[in-house]
Amino acid sequence: MSKQESLNSVKERILASGLPLKSSAKNLVFGKGNPDAKLMFIGEAPGEQEDIQGLPFVGAAGKELDKLLRSIGLSLDAAYIANILKYRPPMNRSPNPEEIKAHTPYLVEQIKILSPNIIITLGNFSTKFVLGGFDPEKMATIDGITKLHGKEFTVTLDGQNHLVVPLFHPAAMLHNPQLRPLLEEDFKKLKIILESNKESQRTLL
Ligand code: URA
Repeated sequence: MSKQESLNSVKERILASGLPLKSSAKNLVFGKGNPDAKLMFIGEAPGEQEDIQGLPFVGAAGKELDKLLRSIGLSLDAAYIANILKYRPPMNRSPNPEEIKAHTPYLVEQIKILSPNIIITLGNFSTKFVLGGFDPEKMATIDGITKLHGKEFTVTLDGQNHLVVPLFHPAAMLHNPQLRPLLEEDFKKLKIILESNKESQRTLL
């Protein structure tokens, strides 16, 4: 089975499931991008535009993310992007623990299929989930994004190592413009990290 076929089968299982938030959402927001990319972004949850279009990061935060990527010579098309939650929470509220527990097994399946060299976590929820060893119960033990952004970590999933770089969520930057220079600085670091990662360099640059 190709990576795309494996992803499609996970998507079919989600559609057939009764995941929390499904009934209030318009569409499943599964993920998008190049399944062979070595770079994966993980966001928090779909917003209004994502819910309407059924695709992650197509609204204001996605446009900012794309601009930041273009500033280092990349675009979202060169990566795969998915969220902690697969359906939009009403009024864009934060994910709650039961939703995270129910939705993240599908994210873990996506990560195993994609096997990215580098995972960029955007904001607190995805950073705490990934650095907590993909265990929702450990999220509370992980520091917040203000402390962790721009640093490099390694996590292991099923014997596979992934370099993890947490970044501020571009939506947070839209609410708090003081974060913009920090995010821009972190993207410059990300460029250096990508350039020193030969595998991803072959696919991405
Ligand atoms: N914010 C996210 O975390 N994910 C999206 O898909 C859109 C906005």
